[in-house]
Amino acid sequence: MNGLSDSARRTRTDRMGRVRHRMADLGITALLLSHGADLPWLTGYEAMPLERLTMLVVPAEGDAVLVVPALEAPRVRDAGTLFDVRPWSEEEDPAEVVAGIVAAVGRGVRLSPDTRLAISDRAWSVSLLVLQSRLPAATWAPASVVTAPVRAVKDPAEQAALRAAGGAADRVAAALQSGEIPLVGRRESDVSADLARLLVAEGHDRVNFVIVGSGPNAASPHHEPGGRVIGTGETVVCDFGGSLSLDGDVGYCSDITRTVVTGDPSPEVAECYEVLREAQEAAARAARAGSRAGAVDAVARRIIAAAGLGDRFIHRTGHGIGIEEHEDPYLVTGNDELLAPGHAFSVEPGIYVPGRFGMRLEDIVVIDEAGDPELLNQADRSLVVVDA
Ligand code: ZN
Ligand code: ZN
Ligand code: ZN
Repeated sequence: MNGLSDSARRTRTDRMGRVRHRMADLGITALLLSHGADLPWLTGYEAMPLERLTMLVVPAEGDAVLVVPALEAPRVRDAGTLFDVRPWSEEEDPAEVVAGIVAAVGRGVRLSPDTRLAISDRAWSVSLLVLQSRLPAATWAPASVVTAPVRAVKDPAEQAALRAAGGAADRVAAALQSGEIPLVGRRESDVSADLARLLVAEGHDRVNFVIVGSGPNAASPHHEPGGRVIGTGETVVCDFGGSLSLDGDVGYCSDITRTVVTGDPSPEVAECYEVLREAQEAAARAARAGSRAGAVDAVARRIIAAAGLGDRFIHRTGHGIGIEEHEDPYLVTGNDELLAPGHAFSVEPGIYVPGRFGMRLEDIVVIDEAGDPELLNQADRSLVVVDA
């Protein structure tokens, strides 16, 4: 990754400020970021998933320090402004380096149980275990208690990236719906490979997943596409997404599901799809600032249950999306979190009839400044017949 643009660096300074504010509210002494999305979100630098320790130490006050293997240091581009760099050589013990910085943060105050450290949710457990042995008095929390609510509110740069990723995914969905990708007589895995190729051709830097579930396989929401040959008169659930980066910054995810049918649908399938479409549209409309996340799930669930299909909708209505495919906020029963401008998430109810057929309809929604839902996907939401 090249150095961040000036605006990206300003954005990072702003994020660092919001993170520190929250650390102060929670009484967190230092935030320790290793693998996962928090580090690139905050700095533009992504730790390689190596066994060697990379860790950004963000004290509540004072300069942040990136402890990084010496051989990775040349990849670090934005040192100096956002954080200092402390490369460690192969003869050093990086956990000792991190522990030393954390201890210095206490400015002579002995580390006590009041020292609260928050470490990346995705850090290796071995990193945590060795740090716990060096800092025995500290108490520990997952970094997400600090970062998740801040990351959930997307700033304009993040919304632009999500919008671009959504547009690219829409073009792939349009290719599917136009029949550009043959379905009947081909294996699910072949169709999956075609969709993956198109995701990259339309601007994604990386493919994250491509689910293709046909016939009875469509009833399994996370079906792994395999050797089943797609026949006529079947529903085919295609759920795919990748990461797309703007201006060399961190990539943001797309995630879209369209269900197509190979030949005219049976009356039962057509009726179920009408219910699904109504549920998805109503839930997306209900996703406004001030609504509870769980209430949006309830909107979709109520409509599907009213049609006698309540037990066929076997997952939550949606998940937040950003650098990660799944992050806060989750649209799930019992989540009382209030939706707010900048929140971005999927709205994706499904109906699954085991052994026979399944269907899902998914768009990404971001809540705009006025508090209204903006759909980042516009691909045709009807049950499109292909290969008729
Ligand atoms: Zn899923
Ligand atoms: Zn999806
Ligand atoms: Zn999704």
